[in-house]
Amino acid sequence: METILFLAFPEADGSLSKAALETLAAAQQLSASIAGSKIVVGLIGADIQSAANAIAACGAARFLGVSGAEFAQSRYATDAAAAEAIAKSAAATIILAPAGSRANRALPGVAQRLGGRVDTHATAIAAAEGKPSISRWYYRQRMEGTLSRTTRPWVVLLESGCTPAYSGAAGTATVEGVLVALPTIRTEVAGFRSPPADQQTIRPDAKLLFVAGAGWTKKQPDGQAHAAEAEQLILGFLGKTQASLGSTKSLVDLSGEGQAVLQFMTHLNQVGQTGSTPRHAKGLATCCHGEEPHTVGWRFIGERRAINLNAACSWAQGKADVLYVADAFEVMRKVNALLG
Ligand SMILES: Cc1cc2nc3c(=O)[nH]c(=O)nc-3n(C[C@H](O)[C@H](O)[C@H](O)COP(=O)(O)OP(=O)(O)OC[C@H]3O[C@@H](n4cnc5c(N)ncnc54)[C@H](O)[C@@H]3O)c2cc1C
Repeated sequence: METILFLAFPEADGSLSKAALETLAAAQQLSASIAGSKIVVGLIGADIQSAANAIAACGAARFLGVSGAEFAQSRYATDAAAAEAIAKSAAATIILAPAGSRANRALPGVAQRLGGRVDTHATAIAAAEGKPSISRWYYRQRMEGTLSRTTRPWVVLLESGCTPAYSGAAGTATVEGVLVALPTIRTEVAGFRSPPADQQTIRPDAKLLFVAGAGWTKKQPDGQAHAAEAEQLILGFLGKTQASLGSTKSLVDLSGEGQAVLQFMTHLNQVGQTGSTPRHAKGLATCCHGEEPHTVGWRFIGERRAINLNAACSWAQGKADVLYVADAFEVMRKVNALLG
């Protein structure tokens, strides 16, 4: 019989992230397809009661928690000690957690302490005839593999955006506190540094990914580059739509070559083989050629559209659902005007 531990770290405001709720939904589906299995919820954080209440109706057999100021912040020693204690208390055989920074850092070590195994970057978990297996992508999302393990406990870190989030009613959950021997604490989190909200262009939860390519900074048919207008058009569109901003490698590399670049773009925006593989319902590529090392990062984009002057660009070779052969400056000027 499998005991599926859903393990999560509530946010600073006590809520559960979308990724955590997706993982809970995956745990429910898994449990439904393994006869005799049960779900145990494990929460780690400063205050975990409101998170437990938010998922009170999820059907868990038990709610376990480790709470207190020492567990508020991400720190390997305390996160690993808490997760280990909860896993032991639950007698968990499968431990499912969202692949956030805290779980990614602490849970592989916890698997080692428990004598189990861990798989990271899983994109699905399911069971056929009572036997669970996970899906995972290899070679920068070019091949998908399915694997199962007999070793228990089996820790699985599930990527976000792979399954609809749990949305049950809130209630009142009775949380059993799990005692943890506090490890030596050598790391203190001094604070957070993050860009102002209007400069935060990477929005994983946005419906649309807007990709800007190097063409925005290249000489246009009038013989001039128009980086300042490009910046204004792109920021205008992002401001109106709250789309997430992606880039090609060529565009973010340009700054290193001393060329006129879009100031708000960094390597963190880069999508592709050596960049990110975001998940969005739709994507719009502009002034981007659509070469394979870039488009491999579009694996999980639902509907793909591109605007390019060149009808023979790579997007036309089966990589986009719709290619607009047009001047992206003109199109985005018009789109921004229509958006008001
Ligand atoms: C090992 C390796 C790893 C790599 N990893 C990545 C990666 O992770 N991500 C990535 O992006 N790339 C990666 N690359 C680079 C990749 O191969 C391409 O060089 C890069 O994606 C090209 O960027 P681009 O399309 O913006 O630029 P370009 O190839 O210069 O294309 C610019 C496009 O803009 C169009 N254009 C110009 N003006 C306009 C206009 N007014 N309206 C419409 N269209 C216009 C042009 O027609 C052209 O198609 C990698 C390469 C290697 C070798």
